[in-house]
Amino acid sequence: MPKKKLGVFKFASCDGCQLSLLDCEDELLAVAGALHVANFLEASREVVKGPYDLALVEGSITTPHDEERIHKVRRQSKFMVTIGACATAGGIQALRNFANVKDYTSIVYARPDYISTLSKSTPISGHVPVDFELRGCPISKTQLVEVVSAFLFGRKPNTPPHSVCVECKKRETVCVMVARDTPCLGPVTQAGCGAICPAYHRGCYGCFGPAESPNTGSISARWKEMGVDDAGVSRAFHGFNAWAEPFRKAGGER
Ligand code: SF4
Ligand code: SF4
Repeated sequence: MPKKKLGVFKFASCDGCQLSLLDCEDELLAVAGALHVANFLEASREVVKGPYDLALVEGSITTPHDEERIHKVRRQSKFMVTIGACATAGGIQALRNFANVKDYTSIVYARPDYISTLSKSTPISGHVPVDFELRGCPISKTQLVEVVSAFLFGRKPNTPPHSVCVECKKRETVCVMVARDTPCLGPVTQAGCGAICPAYHRGCYGCFGPAESPNTGSISARWKEMGVDDAGVSRAFHGFNAWAEPFRKAGGER
């Protein structure tokens, strides 16, 4: 059977999700026989032209050039998976969406007139059809290997739809909200990380984005009972996944 061609593409991002892919070295060896890494600039300068059977896309769309390039990548890719909070929700850089981007460029750059940028940072799915979205900041390498394996075998990826709370129960972590009165976004956050933060006695800050049907109103009310003010609740939702609709609304769309 010919190897499937893999392309890995970067847009506005910190490269952390691509590093998760590189961190899969042991696991990827098992699937390397079925994959030809044809375009992955983070790992190799060698670029084999498309079309690609599978494209992994990291990062959000923030410039007019990005807007053009993502269409080109889509045309070259049979199956497209977006990886990480930047690609699936606009990332931390989507905080610009709640302000006037010109206010930022005028403060940060000596020559803001040199900067060509869009007023908003948006997820890849806002521009082209996406076949699967893998959440997290960064993504879980276990989930990434599962998604790549599922693609190779032509099946649906097995990624959990439930919240971080279920992962806490599975690893027998005592709930930080109940036992310690620590504000936690776990009840409204998509599982996938293995509930790392509560295992170290901290609240989840939502890096995997909203879970299915998140009850953000209820968790906001509970946080306020614990003494967090409106601004604190807004800041909690407006983090890595600020532009994901349930978190955008819960944080107060301005
Ligand atoms: S999702 Fe997080 S780790 Fe991944 S590229 Fe964006 S900022 Fe980096
Ligand atoms: S517990 Fe929450 S913030 Fe911590 S890694 Fe998991 S999803 Fe991210």
